[in-house]
Amino acid sequence: RQSAEQLRILSVLNDLHLKYKPLTDGKVADYIPQLAKVSPDLFGICIATADGQVFEVGDYDYLFTIQSISKPFVYGLALEDHGREYVRTRVGVEPTGDAFNSIIKLDERSKRPHNPLVNAGAIAMTSIIKGTDPTDKLNRILDLFQRYTGHGILADMSVFMSERTTGHRNRAIAHLMLNFGMIDGNVDEALDLYFQQCSLMVSCRDLAVMGATLANHGVNPLTGKRAIPAEYVRDILSVMFTCGLYDYAGEWAYRIGLPAKSGVGGGMLAVVPGRFGIGVFSPPLDERGNSVRAIKVCEGITEAFGAHIFDVA
Ligand code: GLN
Repeated sequence: RQSAEQLRILSVLNDLHLKYKPLTDGKVADYIPQLAKVSPDLFGICIATADGQVFEVGDYDYLFTIQSISKPFVYGLALEDHGREYVRTRVGVEPTGDAFNSIIKLDERSKRPHNPLVNAGAIAMTSIIKGTDPTDKLNRILDLFQRYTGHGILADMSVFMSERTTGHRNRAIAHLMLNFGMIDGNVDEALDLYFQQCSLMVSCRDLAVMGATLANHGVNPLTGKRAIPAEYVRDILSVMFTCGLYDYAGEWAYRIGLPAKSGVGGGMLAVVPGRFGIGVFSPPLDERGNSVRAIKVCEGITEAFGAHIFDVA
């Protein structure tokens, strides 16, 4: 039997799904050719609580590529690998107000990319992940997402190859950073690992559980296992709050008020610290590359549960 609280969460999710299902605004990403093949109708919502309850509606187990939602988690792994002091010398925490793939603020005067959630900073973080060789580094990233989701993770090879062969802008960003001394080592290897982490397949249920793990101070509430040292959860959530939605970050912080991260695969992950994680999947994106339905759903959830971090209970 479900409690009144459980029934209420389910009915909020069902209502939001019903309300926004007919919304057809936005466009499925096509700059990575393989992404354009996904159906714009897919729509799933999931909430996972910090004590391990899971509520889901719609296409909650449909697998799609994680894309940029991988960035805050790999940032956490870089922190775990090198400690805060060193990582701070390699990436800033300043929002750019620019698009995710911008090269505008990458110049010789700045010693490091602005933050770990724009592509430049994310590639820089991926480039410092420890490992004896490319396979070892990939395995460490797979293990990371296994800890956060509670199960093994696979990559979508077609999306990986599609981005690897067409991602000239990311290649340019990485080479510029090499030229400026912001990254060192093998650029092509770092890019391959970055494209691999972006092509990992998750469901919006996975995203919710990953969010719940952050909401639960780094311990996955379903497995009881730690995914990230508690001391770095704050770092991850802070940059998600200020930089997670790129040039929509300010509006998002004001209206939804939660640390979050979007991906061009149509996923959105948001965290209500101490309470629950939210995962939404709906492929059509607005012009900034954020899922249109996911923004609406998160706004609805914030309102229904007074979840904006500055809502006074
Ligand atoms: N792999 C994508 C890219 O680098 C990720 C972008 C995103 O999800 N915003 O362009």
